[in-house]
Amino acid sequence: VKLDLVQGAARDGHLYPAVILHGSNEAMRQEAAVTLARTLLCAEGASLRPCGVCNNCRRIVWPNSGDNDRFHPDFVVLRRDLKTATSVDATRDMLRTAQFSPFEARGQVFVVANAETLSGEAANALLKNLEEPATSAPRHFFLLAPSRLDLLPTLRSRALAVFLGPSEALDQATASDLAQAFGAALSAYQKSGAGIHLLHAADVLGGAGGWEDPRSMRPWAVAAAAVSLTAAQLPEAAARRRCLALAEDLLGAPPLRLRGIMAERILDGLVARHFAGGWR
Ligand SMILES: [Zn+2]
Repeated sequence: VKLDLVQGAARDGHLYPAVILHGSNEAMRQEAAVTLARTLLCAEGASLRPCGVCNNCRRIVWPNSGDNDRFHPDFVVLRRDLKTATSVDATRDMLRTAQFSPFEARGQVFVVANAETLSGEAANALLKNLEEPATSAPRHFFLLAPSRLDLLPTLRSRALAVFLGPSEALDQATASDLAQAFGAALSAYQKSGAGIHLLHAADVLGGAGGWEDPRSMRPWAVAAAAVSLTAAQLPEAAARRRCLALAEDLLGAPPLRLRGIMAERILDGLVARHFAGGWR
């Protein structure tokens, strides 16, 4: 399920009571939780939610995000209280608040910031709460985790999972795989001088994937990360310099894509620009 669909449901007041926000990175998960909470509790009419300026929107912020004056009593964030776990005591404290009516807004939003660290007991306490319907006003629980698979199956089966995009860790693994193959293709080219190896090197970078969306910066960032990693592995300074220059060009390539040039053509062209003729 995509975030914009869920936001539409939140705007209309039909959002599922428990939502897992997973994928991407921690900052993006927190941002998604704040945006959805504002959408749910915004004082404006449905089509304007979240307005960003009403008394609710302005005060719904991630705690300790450098703005300690802003706080909304109906937006509660439960953070990991132990070194590696979110304790059952802290979870029960939060759930007690869920027994009250909202203080100001038309509903309440509870966020578990690191749901992957919920202890078994804590997860069960939460689960019991999800099973009881809200008494007076709508009550929403957001569970933030790197992957939905980090949560107990019982929790997963009670919640709608919203995927926010591939995790950075996944991108790093991809970049390091690509770096190996890219370095091998460059070495083969340096040895034989056969252009096919340069085409292959460009093709390797295409393996970053996700090129369908011409506005997406992600594949370029992954390809550039791969090329930078390759640079670190190459013994020759001249080859390293070329890699770093290529990485820079890759990060600057999205405008070419927006002019309608295919990603493969851009990759072929940039790799040839920096490596045709070898590096000695
Ligand atoms: Zn608002």
